[in-house]
Amino acid sequence: MAIKRSSQENKTPRKRTSPTSDQQNQEERLLSSEITVQETQSSEDGIRPQKLADYIGQKELKKILNIAIAAAKVRQEPLDHLLLYGPPGLGKTTMSLILASEMGVNCKITAAPALERPRDITGLLIALKPGDILFIDEIHRLNRMAEELLYPAMEDCRLDITIGKGQSAKIRSIPLPPFTLVGATTKVGSLTSPLRDRFGLIQRLRFYEIDELTLIVKRTAAILMVTITETGAEEIARRSRGTPRIANRLLKRVRDYAQVEKSDTINQTLAAEALDIFNVDARGLDWTDRLVLSTVIEQFNGGPVGLEAIAAATGEDAKTIEEVYEPYLLQIGYLNRTHRGRVVTQAAYEHLGKIKL
Ligand code: ADP
Repeated sequence: MAIKRSSQENKTPRKRTSPTSDQQNQEERLLSSEITVQETQSSEDGIRPQKLADYIGQKELKKILNIAIAAAKVRQEPLDHLLLYGPPGLGKTTMSLILASEMGVNCKITAAPALERPRDITGLLIALKPGDILFIDEIHRLNRMAEELLYPAMEDCRLDITIGKGQSAKIRSIPLPPFTLVGATTKVGSLTSPLRDRFGLIQRLRFYEIDELTLIVKRTAAILMVTITETGAEEIARRSRGTPRIANRLLKRVRDYAQVEKSDTINQTLAAEALDIFNVDARGLDWTDRLVLSTVIEQFNGGPVGLEAIAAATGEDAKTIEEVYEPYLLQIGYLNRTHRGRVVTQAAYEHLGKIKL
């Protein structure tokens, strides 16, 4: 399979809004589920699974896509348009590339912020070959013009181009080859309903379990030719916030540490030592996660407390807390959201070694 990359490809990491220290920034880069500048999509290619069988976890998703692939092959048609949603780093781009490989077609990768002008999207659509996959990341950020060009393309394989302006403007329709649009988003609720309705399949990606992440760490270690024990891989998995991208990144940092320590095997002690140095704690919490939890405990008696109050007390941006930190804290049951505000749970008290008064 040829992986074509659009020149407009644009995956930028989320910028933090209120950096408070260099140490904190370094930690965030390590635990951020967004792709970083150093980790371009192509640098992930070596470790990215290429076949559905190598794609670990997400059993439901794989089952559904396996059926869709088999049916499309029998009908000799492209796959239905597919919308994948879920937090960053869970494998949406990877799945799109695997689908292309399984269907024996090309996958063009782009992101909505790179499709500002009408010609950006028309250029991509016109260049598609029959059956190709067009992957649009952050699809909830498409502008209206781009969206309206996509509707007839998705529905009728047709590109409607307006020529001229004002009353003399004419619409010219250009036929397109049948293709599959794979849209990826972290915010499915922000998609307009006409766009959402045009996807035949809408699938959610979930955070990964520890045993799945352990397999991912072991697989990546084998590709990087690093020797790792089962418990060493498990230690990295436990600290990876349910996210393969973070698991792979932590493995690389532990590998650096092992090299400096002249150790040829990564075992549990070495992995824990390395990640403690990088300030990634036993549950994958960083400085800001712990700050958020301890602020709610110490200043608000464990909650309930509103997001804005937490933001003011920690000096963090409310949106960043909500979108970057909270999802994982909610996922591991350290924080609850109630209609009266956020509440820290007993498990979080125990993790931080604090006593509930
Ligand atoms: P997203 O598009 O959701 O942000 P990616 O598809 O870019 O995430 O995945 C990030 C990295 O995590 C990839 O480089 C890939 O190596 C790894 N990865 C993601 N999902 C899986 C999986 N199911 N099995 C193995 N590795 C995975």
